[in-house]
Amino acid sequence: MSSLLLQHDLFIDGQETPSADGRRFEVRSPHDGAPVASVAAATAADVDRAVAAAQAAFLAWSALTAYERESRIRKATAHARTLAPEIGRLMALEQGKPINQGCSEVLGACDTIDYYAAEAVRIEGTINPTEHRDYRSMVIHQPIGVCAVITPWNYPVSLLSWKLGPALATGCAVIVKPTTVTPLSPAAFCRALVAGGIPGGLLNVLPGSGATLGDALVRHPGVAKIAMTGSSPTGKRILAAAAPTLKKVSLELGGQCPAIVCVDADLGNAAKVAAYKGFRNCGQSCSAVNRIFVHRDVAKSFLEKLRAEAEKLTLGDPLANPAADLGPMATADGVETARAHVADALSKGARLLTGGGAPSVSPGPGGRYFLPTVLADATPDMRVMREETFGPVVGVAIFTDLDEAVRLANDSDYGLVSYLFTRDLATAHRVSERLESGTVCVNHGAVNTNYGPYAGWKDSGYGVELSRRAVFEYLKTKHIKFQL
Ligand code: NAP
Repeated sequence: MSSLLLQHDLFIDGQETPSADGRRFEVRSPHDGAPVASVAAATAADVDRAVAAAQAAFLAWSALTAYERESRIRKATAHARTLAPEIGRLMALEQGKPINQGCSEVLGACDTIDYYAAEAVRIEGTINPTEHRDYRSMVIHQPIGVCAVITPWNYPVSLLSWKLGPALATGCAVIVKPTTVTPLSPAAFCRALVAGGIPGGLLNVLPGSGATLGDALVRHPGVAKIAMTGSSPTGKRILAAAAPTLKKVSLELGGQCPAIVCVDADLGNAAKVAAYKGFRNCGQSCSAVNRIFVHRDVAKSFLEKLRAEAEKLTLGDPLANPAADLGPMATADGVETARAHVADALSKGARLLTGGGAPSVSPGPGGRYFLPTVLADATPDMRVMREETFGPVVGVAIFTDLDEAVRLANDSDYGLVSYLFTRDLATAHRVSERLESGTVCVNHGAVNTNYGPYAGWKDSGYGVELSRRAVFEYLKTKHIKFQL
């Protein structure tokens, strides 16, 4: 790990600047607990400055043609791509993700922003037939204005790009509030885009606490839209705080994702996908498989395959071992939740197939490494089957008929992603249609694609991210009616 303590300031109007009251906070490595960076903590006065800069930049940016914006955005992402190794290194330092995965995340984020740059020139309006021969009716879409983008720590650059892409393409200005856990990589990504040609005031970064700075942004009258990814309780607080100013809000929130493994499934594939989605990024993913329902007749074979897949995964120092599958968990609270879910399940009769806690030889001294864990004989009363673990822990229960499996899968306050494994086309269609989630993946785990809408049902979200649909989260609609 680096022994150098990095210094990060606020980024307002293209300038590095300390916060109004000079306060700072520290970022520590999840690998060994060492301090990584000292970061300026923005205040409400800094929000005023950033909003003023963003409003001025918005006027100029939204006046460009969509073709001009597309070209500027593509130049900026081309520059950001060249910095992917450095931004990936920051992500490894602050979040614990192996550096190779962090680099890929940055490149994928550039692809997402480019996807939306292409959409900028396809924001079409309509011309309507009218009730009178001298009337003309035209509907156009215009950028909403200054957007506050509030992001979590699990995919700090990727989840930022899901919001930056449509915001910049439609002509909006942005103020980013990354989480205090991982402020470095998203800030570096935004600086890279500005260095590549995005106007400084258009993309501002204010690190600082959610409860104070985040809340000030959400309530600010100069902010027209909030786009946030995070936990469901925080999302509900943000929606309530945004209500007095009637802001447009989109929220991508928590998940507790079920997987159904049918009797006719390709068990090898189901186990691979379940392990990938259950354990990748240490299970710190909204779309992580948290609970699996497997048909009684294939349960033994599936569990053996899942255990083998879990045990194949390597744990390692995210910088020294760039190709490791898993690094440390990002937060101490996360480790505690994973431990508590395992203990709760075991106390209620679950069987530990593999994992269950820290490895006997840890790649780091910080106590954040946690083995991929499979719990068999899980029951609906166990926390792992009801709550978002956000750690590398998967509970597996048995079902005997598909109606029961669908009922169990839908018995959740969350509705983000469901996974289904079957070789039968009719089952694939019928069960997908009955699953209560915004996304259903049949026989795979490639959940997020730029072209597919990602919309949480129930406590998992509000509004849409990704796909062409997300563009309209950043636009206002205007009907212009003429009498000739
Ligand atoms: P979190 O605690 O809810 O925080 C998310 C962001 O909101 C952080 O930047 C946080 O700032 C900020 N925040 C907290 N309170 C706020 C307030 N009152 N007003 C404005 N902003 C506030 O979530 P997290 O622990 O970082 O992330 C994990 C959660 O994100 C999980 O539940 C996961 O499922 C969810 N997630 C969802 C998706 C999806 O697409 N559906 C994707 C990834 C993650 P500070 O942290 O700096 O205080």
